[in-house]
Amino acid sequence: MMIDNAEGLVFRPPSEARSFILRVTIGCSHNMCTFCAMYKDSKYRVRSLEEIDGIIERAAQAYPFVRRVFLADGDALVLPTDDLIHILKKCYATFPNINRIGAYATPADLNRKSPEDLKRLREAGLGIVYMGIESGDDEVLRHVKKGTTGALTVKAGKKALDAGMKLSAMILIGLGGKERTKEHALHTAEVVSAINPTMLSALTLIIPGNVPLYEEVVTGKFTPLTARGFLEELHMILSHTDMKNPCIFRSNHVSNLVPVGGTLPMDKDAMLATLERYIPRADNVRPLLNDTGNF
Ligand code: SF4
Repeated sequence: MMIDNAEGLVFRPPSEARSFILRVTIGCSHNMCTFCAMYKDSKYRVRSLEEIDGIIERAAQAYPFVRRVFLADGDALVLPTDDLIHILKKCYATFPNINRIGAYATPADLNRKSPEDLKRLREAGLGIVYMGIESGDDEVLRHVKKGTTGALTVKAGKKALDAGMKLSAMILIGLGGKERTKEHALHTAEVVSAINPTMLSALTLIIPGNVPLYEEVVTGKFTPLTARGFLEELHMILSHTDMKNPCIFRSNHVSNLVPVGGTLPMDKDAMLATLERYIPRADNVRPLLNDTGNF
């Protein structure tokens, strides 16, 4: 559900498909990641509380059945804690049937907030944050300008969980290219295991023609994985995870070559077996293409 697309495209996690998408910012304050095209066409701005209150009031009238609200755009948690609490309270007071609010958050957003700030946000009804880990490998993170490190990502994820929020984390298969697939896989497995998020999604890298990483492909500085390479890398990540608490794992996004899902650590062997069945067949599969079709 979405009524607010006058300023650039709107993105939300698949699990928020039925939520009201409340854009508290337009775009992403970071907007530097070399693989990400999501907000390249949006001029970043923070919406005023007055503007947001008006949107909430109109949306609650139009969609009184709304049960969930999702705060966008790319890093809604960048807003000051008091402003976020105002927005959370306004949503709960205005939508008659609401029972959960979620938001995108970068590791830097979470690390800028104190544990007390995060607890206050949880108490005000922020139930889940979605954090893009992308990679646990510092060299990959530096290369793609993610603005964090593996250690800082672990710290951020743990802070969200310690505050009592659910944490849905995303990783990006193929982000190290052929050049760093092993390091990317092993360090990503380390980071996700250290965080042990509530949910973990593995998406497959697709490189559109309008991002800096695409130029690196053209000039030969970055070599995308083959279809087999993507599956082997996911296999390596999964096989090295060491979750102590149940983590719902999904790799069934439209970008993924083979849908895999289950709960870690219990279903790890079954998911690995699924990948092992498909890896030999992947040699004849074209990987997901960029918009030139020439990977
Ligand atoms: S922080 Fe997220 S939304 Fe912003 S540029 Fe990076 S990947 Fe894209």
